[in-house]
Amino acid sequence: MSDSTISVSASDELTVCREVHELKSCLNELRTNRKTAALVPTMGALHEGHLSLIEIAKEQADIVIVSIFVNPTQFGPNEDYETYPRQFDKDVEKCRDAGVDVVFSPDREEVYSDENFFQIKISTLNEHMCGGSRPGFFEGIVQVVNKLFNMVEPDVAVFGQKDIQQVQILRQMVREFNHGVKIVTAPIRRANDGLALSSRNTYLSDDERVTAPGLFRSLQYIETQIRSGVHTPKLLIRHQESELEAKGFEIDYLNVFALKTLSPVESLEKGQTYIIAGAAYLGKTRLIDNILIEL
Ligand code: AMP
Repeated sequence: MSDSTISVSASDELTVCREVHELKSCLNELRTNRKTAALVPTMGALHEGHLSLIEIAKEQADIVIVSIFVNPTQFGPNEDYETYPRQFDKDVEKCRDAGVDVVFSPDREEVYSDENFFQIKISTLNEHMCGGSRPGFFEGIVQVVNKLFNMVEPDVAVFGQKDIQQVQILRQMVREFNHGVKIVTAPIRRANDGLALSSRNTYLSDDERVTAPGLFRSLQYIETQIRSGVHTPKLLIRHQESELEAKGFEIDYLNVFALKTLSPVESLEKGQTYIIAGAAYLGKTRLIDNILIEL
């Protein structure tokens, strides 16, 4: 074997950056010759869903950056910021195996100073779905993604359809703030029984894990009924809510929303795209899921 075949090129190595200045200089080195960069923002505890985003990022750009940051500003006071699963070393290994170029994992203090003079307010797109039940959640996401976009300056950013409201809000943010970042949406990765993969699934007890795919089944049932002609889904949804409650779910929301406005719709029209979406608790675990449907 000649020397050239065993030499490792810069893109075969993974660099872990903790500070913004390190990240900037590392990216300066990697991004010579107009190389493009794709960012995959995550909160870590990486699973196959995250890895599918990384695969898409690799198709989209020359360099892939994965950020791992459990963002405190998107958690409410009674939510799971402290207990959110953290497994940094495992995550780095997964990123290495997946061919990621840079992992950016800043401390809280690196991202947020003590003083806070600015806030971004979202109008209307966060009124319903997760925004309706988690006040401040999307403001926190917009704040951190805005910062990440300025830190990384990616050409592309990949987000999962699992958090469809997040995708729609960030698309709007990019338009209104002229970020010049292409937003790519990745399909939802599921376990064999249909449960959408999530870092929070580790909270589920064995019994809850068996029940958990029920949420997706209800969404699928609603989808089938809509496809077979039910265009005023209110009663259908009520029925599925009762079914889920009988299985032990505590419903946060279950409804059909317009993709464009993220508002609930009473009556569906041909030519429009809708989101059949639900969020529900099983014990202390909050599950979310959705199906996109174009009529
Ligand atoms: P998180 O670490 O939960 O903040 O998620 C980071 C990114 O991974 C977000 O864009 C999510 O939408 C995406 N994601 C989470 N779960 C899945 C999944 N099951 N399939 C595809 N993408 C996912």
